[in-house]
Amino acid sequence: MTKDDIITLPKPQLREKSQRVGFVDDEIKKIVEKMKSATISWDHSRKYEVGVALAAVQIDKLYKIVIIRNNFDDKNDTSFTTFINPKITKFEGTVEEDYEGCLSVKDIYGLVPRHTKVRVKATNIDGEEFRVTAEGFLARVFQHEIDHTNGIVFIDHIKNNPKAFFKLDDNGELEQLDFKKDVEQNSILW
Ligand SMILES: [Zn+2]
Repeated sequence: MTKDDIITLPKPQLREKSQRVGFVDDEIKKIVEKMKSATISWDHSRKYEVGVALAAVQIDKLYKIVIIRNNFDDKNDTSFTTFINPKITKFEGTVEEDYEGCLSVKDIYGLVPRHTKVRVKATNIDGEEFRVTAEGFLARVFQHEIDHTNGIVFIDHIKNNPKAFFKLDDNGELEQLDFKKDVEQNSILW
């Protein structure tokens, strides 16, 4: 799989709920490997960004599966951890806004409010249940990806905030979008 297998808005599947995985069989393991190769392919095509995570719906497989990169700062480290049926069991900390992008929302970034700490329950690739507590950027990534498994895209959280939309310019810097022209009337997004 390559980056071209990643679906983007306005594909309606991105607003559908994914189904729970009943058993981690070979089909599920194959989907996980495809998710990894698609994310790395996307990553290689981007100069200023890192493909940090992906949900299965983004390669058009409506299962509750999320992969998250083990190292957000090193593009050479292409290892991931797999979270099957991930669920946030507790939101903690405070709510803070920070920039967020998505492989399924082309070239748009948003200032999205998220909790600074979450507790997550999931099943690993061997079918065993485990729990993690995540803070900071990792907590944000979990909230973004688990949203995907429930048919929610990050822009859905900020559609009432005209100042929350940005794009990456040619130098990799974020610049604010014109909400009316570039966002509100963009039929691709809604
Ligand atoms: Zn996303």
